Amino acid sequence: SEVERLAAGADDYLTKPFHTEELIARVGVGLRIMELQQEIQVRNAMLQELALTDLLTGLPNRRAIEDWAVRQLNGAARYGFSFWVALADLDYFKTVNDTHGHDAGDTVLKAFSQILKTKSRRSDICGRIGGEEFLFVLTHATKEDAKRVIGCVRAELEATEFNFNGNSLTVTASFGLVGFTGTKAPDFNRLVAQADLALYSAKRLGRNRVE
Ligand code: GH3
Ligand code: MG
Ligand code: MG
Repeated sequence: SEVERLAAGADDYLTKPFHTEELIARVGVGLRIMELQQEIQVRNAMLQELALTDLLTGLPNRRAIEDWAVRQLNGAARYGFSFWVALADLDYFKTVNDTHGHDAGDTVLKAFSQILKTKSRRSDICGRIGGEEFLFVLTHATKEDAKRVIGCVRAELEATEFNFNGNSLTVTASFGLVGFTGTKAPDFNRLVAQADLALYSAKRLGRNRVE
């Protein structure tokens, strides 16, 4: 019956004899539904992207990094490749805001994001996890390579000259870097906590350095 056919997945039906105008009208209804559905799909993709993006910098946010990193970390344990986490925090950033204004601070955050982006490979991930804190996760790198990459980020920010209302300014960042190789994946957030300890050392030892 018609009820059964609709229940089985048909979206619509026509009974014989066909009327051309009705047929065209019903195809129009079908098209309208398809268009609405496509619109919803596009919007959902946009929302999903938004949920994983830091609005100020356009970088992945903490959730996006976590999603990616947890998978990679399991891969690292399973296939034996290295996994590195660097946590970065801008130095004396409150002073930048207090002296040059919040917009200037935002400009610095965006510039630092750009540096992170250009220094990361497409197989790495870097993002802003909040405030003036950033995460950089890389895999398949030796300790020397990881230290070199993060060192480059540090040096590049230090060498960047900002100009706010005629006042030139440089900003630095401190970094905590930890790595994992092994067969049992630790909790990603435990690695981040370890990186945070290393970062704290970098701050204590004078800032603008990688520990
Ligand atoms: P330290 O060297 O010890 O890290 O000192 P700090 O001043 O960088 O650290 P603190 O945590 O005291 O200050 C962080 C500042 O970052 C405070 C806050 O106003 C600023 N901040 C956080 N998020 C944003 C943001 O989105 N935009 C701007 N402009 N500033 C932000
Ligand atoms: Mg901070
Ligand atoms: Mg800071």
